[in-house]
Amino acid sequence: MNYQLPILLYHRIINTHSKIGKHKLYVHDKDFRMQMQFLKDHGYETITFKDIDTVTPEKKVILTFDDGYEDNYTILFPILKEFGFTCVIYLVTKHTRNEWAIKEGEPELHMLSKERIREMSDYGIEFGGHTRTHIDLKNCKKEKLVDEIAGCKKDVEEITGKSCISFAYPFGAHNEETLQAVRDAGYKYGISTIFGPANWKEDPMRIRRIEVRPSTSVSSFKRKVSGHYYEKNIYKLFSGK
Ligand SMILES: [Zn+2]
Repeated sequence: MNYQLPILLYHRIINTHSKIGKHKLYVHDKDFRMQMQFLKDHGYETITFKDIDTVTPEKKVILTFDDGYEDNYTILFPILKEFGFTCVIYLVTKHTRNEWAIKEGEPELHMLSKERIREMSDYGIEFGGHTRTHIDLKNCKKEKLVDEIAGCKKDVEEITGKSCISFAYPFGAHNEETLQAVRDAGYKYGISTIFGPANWKEDPMRIRRIEVRPSTSVSSFKRKVSGHYYEKNIYKLFSGK
């Protein structure tokens, strides 16, 4: 299989003082730093979706962070600046706390403030849409769908003053109606979790990512950014909608 641009999926970056939840949607700062060191030592460059169509994929990686937690500013941002790297952050625009996760027993966490988003955007971090309220889009009426998807794009653009070109489906949940609503809203790219074709160009509305977990070792990280992480058999297993 040809080399595939690695697009990594993260949520929070935490340190020893951070609250942690049962869903383990975090990576420790010391592990993240080792991962960034690996990228730097091996000549990788971080790109964002605005570059995806114009660069060759070799030695490039896209780092994505879902939800827009405050620790993306307090812990992640200083590390990115230290390495001269960038990333893409998917925002939930109408919540200042993680309401959708608190309901499920996760600890209460603050989301990025508009001021912090602007500062990070000025640095070069790209912001994408992740709905207004982190709703499950597969169980959503048409009108609500438009508000959550197109409304979120408008919100992100108002905050950053830049075009919001990609949208990540909350919980990875999507169907044909969702994909159409994302297209209609004017997003160029729809971002999935681990489902989608091997090569993003085959379906720009279902771009697959590779998850980095708290337990991901440097050797496993190396495989994830190798450009050959999803080999044919795994592709078949995960290519269902
Ligand atoms: Zn999310």
